Amino acid sequence: MTEMVRKITLSRAVRIMQNLFPEEYNFYPRSWILPDEFQLFVAQVRMVKDGDPSWKPTFIVKPDSGCQGDGIYLIKDPSDIRLAGTLQSRPAVVQEYICKPLLIDKLKFDIRLYVLLKSLEPLEIYIAKDGLSRFCTEPYQEPHPRNLHHIFMHLTNYSLNIHSGNFVHSDSTSTGSKRTFSSILCRLSSKGVDIKKVWSDIISLVIKTVIALTPELRVFYQSDIPAGRPGPTCFQILGFDILLMKNLKPILLEVNANPSMRIEHEQELSPGVFENVPSLVDEEVKVAVIRDTLRLMDPFKKKRENHFPDIYMDRKHRFPPVSDRMSSLKLQLSKLSIVRSQQLGKPLASKEEPPDSDLASASAGGASPEGHLPSICLKQVFPKYAKQFNYLRLVDRMANLFIRFLGIKGTMKLGPTGFRTFIRNCKLSSGSLSMAAVDILYIDITRRWNSMTVVHQDSGSRWGKEEGHPVVTKPNLGLFARVQ
Ligand code: ADP
Repeated sequence: MTEMVRKITLSRAVRIMQNLFPEEYNFYPRSWILPDEFQLFVAQVRMVKDGDPSWKPTFIVKPDSGCQGDGIYLIKDPSDIRLAGTLQSRPAVVQEYICKPLLIDKLKFDIRLYVLLKSLEPLEIYIAKDGLSRFCTEPYQEPHPRNLHHIFMHLTNYSLNIHSGNFVHSDSTSTGSKRTFSSILCRLSSKGVDIKKVWSDIISLVIKTVIALTPELRVFYQSDIPAGRPGPTCFQILGFDILLMKNLKPILLEVNANPSMRIEHEQELSPGVFENVPSLVDEEVKVAVIRDTLRLMDPFKKKRENHFPDIYMDRKHRFPPVSDRMSSLKLQLSKLSIVRSQQLGKPLASKEEPPDSDLASASAGGASPEGHLPSICLKQVFPKYAKQFNYLRLVDRMANLFIRFLGIKGTMKLGPTGFRTFIRNCKLSSGSLSMAAVDILYIDITRRWNSMTVVHQDSGSRWGKEEGHPVVTKPNLGLFARVQ
C-alpha cells in the first residue's frame, strides 16, 4: 500500500482510469511524472498556451518521496522547474495547481478523511463520518509571481503551519487552525450549501480512487498472501487529503498509507519550554476511527456473541469519549451527526442489504456491551454503493483474470505458458493469431513492459531485491491490455 499511494504511483494509477473514464476521474489534477515526462509537460503546456494566450497556469512540484510539504514549490512556467541535479536523484510529480480553493475566514484549508479498506476481496470500504480540516495561517491570494513562495498561504500542511506565528491552537473543534470537518459542514450548511451533495461527491471520489488502486494491489496481495491459505488478512486505514474548490467540487490531493494518529500536540508554555498537550480535535476524530476499526476487524467478535468479559467496562472507563469532556459542543455535534448519518451518501442509491450490517449489532446497544461505546463513526460505502461504481472496475477484472492465469500463486509475472493458456481458454487464438504468433507477442510485450519497470533506489518498502538493490517489481498486467 505504501508503494501504491506514493505520489508517482498514485498519479499513474489514476491516469490509467482517467484515460478510460475521463469524466469520472476529473477529481484529480492533471499531473506529469518527472523526470520521465518533462518534455511532454513542456510540450503540452506550450500547446495549450499557444491556443489560449490568456491562460496563466500555476503548477505545483512535489517530490515523490516527500511528505509534510517537504520540497514542494510552485511555478508559473515549466522552465522554472529546478532541474539541476535534483530530479534525477529525486523524482517528482508536477501538477496543475488549484487556484480557486474554497476559503473560510479568508484562509485556504484541506480535509483529512480517514478511510478503512477492510478487505480487498470482496472490496469493502468504510469512511469516517468526521475528519480534520487543516488551515493555512496566511490569508489566501491567487498565485502570483510575488507570492509563490508564501508557504503559509498555499500549503495547508499542519507540520508547516504550526511554525507560523499565526497558528491558533484551540480547545474548540470549530475554531483555530485545525478543526473538525463536521464544524466546516455545519458552517457551510448554515450558509445554505447543499452538504449532502458535498458528502456524496467526496464518497464518490474515495470509492473511485480505491478502485484505481485495487488492480495492482490485488496482484501484490496474492503474491504475499496467496488465497485459500490460512494466514493473515490485512486491512488498512488510509488518510485521504482532499481540497474543496470554490465551487465545492472535491479534489484529491494525495493518499497517505500511514496517516498520523497522534492525539496531542506540542505547545510552548513559556519561551523555549515545550510540552505535549492533548489535542481535542485530533482525539475527537482519531480515537473514533481506531475504535471502530478495531470493532470491525476484531477476529474474536463472533465468539464473544454471548459472553462479554468486563474488559469493555475497563476500556470505557479508561477511554471516555472525548465528547463527554466537551459538553458545550456535544449537543451540536450529536445533532449534526444524526443529520449527517441520515444525509451521508443519500444521493447515491444503496444496495439492498443494510449498509452497516457489521456494525449494526455493535451499535444497537441492548445486550451488547459495545452499546456502551459511542455511536459508530465508520460508514460503509462499498459494497453499499457498488451498483453505481462496478462499471469502473474494468482493470480490476483484468487483474482477476491475470491472477487466474498466473498458474503458480505467489508470483507477479505471467509466464509464456500462462499467457498461452489465457489465449487458448479465452478463444483468442483462432484465425490470424497462431500459437507461434502468441509466443512472439508475449516476448514483444514482455520486452516493452520490462523497460517500463520502475526502480526506486530510495523507496521505503520493497517488493523484491536484486543484487542487493531495492527493486519495485511491477506485475506484467499490461499483457492483457495489449491483447485487448
Ligand atoms: P505532502 O505529502 O508533502 O503533504 P501534498 O500532496 O499533500 O504533499 O501537498 C501539500 C499541500 O500542498 C497540500 O496539503 C495542499 O495544501 C497543497 N497542494 C498540493 N497539491 C495541490 C494542488 N494540486 N493544488 C492546490 N494545492 C495543492
